[in-house]
Amino acid sequence: MAAGTKKIGSAGRYGVRYGATIKQKVVDIEKKQKATYECPSCHKITVKRLAKGIWKCYKCSHTFAAKAFSVGE
Ligand SMILES: [Zn+2]
Repeated sequence: MAAGTKKIGSAGRYGVRYGATIKQKVVDIEKKQKATYECPSCHKITVKRLAKGIWKCYKCSHTFAAKAFSVGE
């Protein structure tokens, strides 16, 4: 009989389906959502995420579609 040790913490109830990698990705995505990006039109750092995949520059009002959670990379 092997002693199968399971870590049951506050996040333990989510089990292995939501591992540390996923949690790190969520943190990463949230950071990107709140970040401001460079406008491809006027090159000012004024681009904010408007909706999923929609980004808008508040300087020149240029609105464009990009990735859902970040502009580049
Ligand atoms: Zn702009």
